[in-house]
Amino acid sequence: MQVYEHPTFQMACRQFDLVADQLQIPVSERERLKFPKRSLTVALPVLMDDGSTKVFSGYRVQHHLTLGPTKGGLRYHPDVTLGEVAALAMWMSWKCALAGLPYGGAKGGIACDPGKMSPGEIERLTRRFTQEMIPFIGPQVDVMAPDVGTNEQAMAWIMDTFSTHAGYTVPGVVTGKPVGLGGSLGRREATGRGVAYLINRAADTLELDISQCSAVIQGFGNVGSVTAYSLGRYGARIIAVSDVSGGIYNSKGLNLPALETHLARTGSIAGFPDAEPISNEQLLLLPCDILVPAAMERQITAANAGKIQCRILAEAANGPTTPDADEILSRRPEIFIIPDVLCNAGGVIVSYFEWVQDLQSFFWGETEIADKLFRILETSWAQVLNRSRKQKISMRMAALSTGISRVFEAKKQRGLFP
Ligand code: NAD
Repeated sequence: MQVYEHPTFQMACRQFDLVADQLQIPVSERERLKFPKRSLTVALPVLMDDGSTKVFSGYRVQHHLTLGPTKGGLRYHPDVTLGEVAALAMWMSWKCALAGLPYGGAKGGIACDPGKMSPGEIERLTRRFTQEMIPFIGPQVDVMAPDVGTNEQAMAWIMDTFSTHAGYTVPGVVTGKPVGLGGSLGRREATGRGVAYLINRAADTLELDISQCSAVIQGFGNVGSVTAYSLGRYGARIIAVSDVSGGIYNSKGLNLPALETHLARTGSIAGFPDAEPISNEQLLLLPCDILVPAAMERQITAANAGKIQCRILAEAANGPTTPDADEILSRRPEIFIIPDVLCNAGGVIVSYFEWVQDLQSFFWGETEIADKLFRILETSWAQVLNRSRKQKISMRMAALSTGISRVFEAKKQRGLFP
């Protein structure tokens, strides 16, 4: 499927092939499981504030339709391509299956730089994208959520545009929307809270006292910042964080409330007093107990995997570790990896709760949501850890093979139409 050609898609395919070998999936079944079921590419003409018209490229990929509607985020980033989106959609499939959610994976994206656009331009772009997607999405078809560069407001515009066309309010077309529009309590925090919960479980397993641990976090957006706060609540010391502009480091621990104030005032973590500047590359190599990549794919590569110095590598981002890096890390048993499809599943789990609440028009309290989230994460954690130990395979192999085998079984049970 050359249309998806991209290093990240190759990486997702290579991971799939390794798991398919391990599960002994017949060669004739592999392409059906691997390649996305549907994808849509759209051109989006948008009126810019200076009066010009700019055309953006938008994508949506639905990986498989076997278990229910497809589910996945929408990314606004200059480097978005169809191939990257297809890889992210594939990972969503294995993630949803691992957590036992009735979804296939999906992902969408628009190649744009939201940091350089006005709110009006972003709104027009989002509404135009939604308009083009109308035959392709819906609560029983494909449900979007925030990802890099998008937020609750973008979800509100998608829901409004879709609902205007339907002629009635359809909250279930997106998750991660504002609570006042049918969003779920705890959705914004869900991914980072889940990451911190699983890091705490890993620390227990390794007999590390989390209150004595130091943590380094790459990416200080939704996922990275909530992970930092949540780890702080477990007692961990956050010694370095970064965003696209670079990082900051203080071996004694960063003052997170002061950082939050600085970020709100300046729009970036750069220039935060009481910390040294550090590059994103240096940040990944800092000695620490917990390393959390929470930004983009392919950050831990063959070039730096031999040099990272942590006990727990918690993959809050999707696809932060390349297969070449994985090979190197497999020879470093001192590093315990919580693989992405497990580590960041809290987001889609609470998105699932939001979708269920919207379909029933019946809303739950935050304690109930947190309790249900941690229960699903605990089950997934135990399943992956046990499989990894029993079969003597890596945590990544255990997580992916659990998800992939569930989709494989479901496809076998449904059979091939016609
Ligand atoms: P976000 O847009 O809120 O934050 C992204 C952060 O990463 C920002 O601080 C940005 O400045 C930084 N960043 C971007 N490029 C970078 C680079 N090259 N080096 C260092 N930092 C960089 O996005 P988010 O929602 O927090 O998503 C972060 C990651 O988590 C992504 O991989 C996403 O797919 C994954 N994820 C998000 C969710 C969710 O619920 N939002 C759920 C599961 C997984």
